[in-house]
Amino acid sequence: MPAPSFYFPAPRTQKFCSQCGAALVIRIPPDDNRQRDVCENCGAIHYQNPRNVVGVLPVLDDTVLLCKRAIQPRYGKWTLPAGFMELSETTAQGAMRETQEEAGAQIELGPLYTVIDVPAVNQVHIFYLGKVLSPELHPGPESLEAGFFKESEIPWGDLAFRTVSSTLEHYFKDKPSGQFPTRHYDVLFPVGD
Ligand SMILES: [Zn+2]
Repeated sequence: MPAPSFYFPAPRTQKFCSQCGAALVIRIPPDDNRQRDVCENCGAIHYQNPRNVVGVLPVLDDTVLLCKRAIQPRYGKWTLPAGFMELSETTAQGAMRETQEEAGAQIELGPLYTVIDVPAVNQVHIFYLGKVLSPELHPGPESLEAGFFKESEIPWGDLAFRTVSSTLEHYFKDKPSGQFPTRHYDVLFPVGD
């Protein structure tokens, strides 16, 4: 198993000011109500905010596309293609990019499907539905493999994240009706547990 190339959730602790390099202190700034990393040298306050994870539930006929993770955390577990949103992209662009990077799949992006708050790790996970245009896959370096699974073939016990398993559960419950309303809910424990 390779050494972790990143940590999840990404480290939030910051020791030095990104503006002047002085050591930071943790305190509540004036007119604020939360502890922040504050620079007493230049006055910079380092606000931190949740990160978005964007992904797709790609569908091909009666199967869904899953990727086997080649990175930590959850190395070797199955996931929907998803990852951290980059600066200067939309959630839809990020979801498409992650699908391309992790599975090499050509898809047509569908409607927004799940929006999941995960406050324990300071993240919001967003999944779109997607239509796979070709069964040809080219998994990238973040995936050990990628493949299509019928509902009866989903490796429920080997899924990487609760946000992935709950999105799949909603999908297979909605599938008989053909109606896939957007769902917003919380996962109130660490996302991988
Ligand atoms: Zn500073």
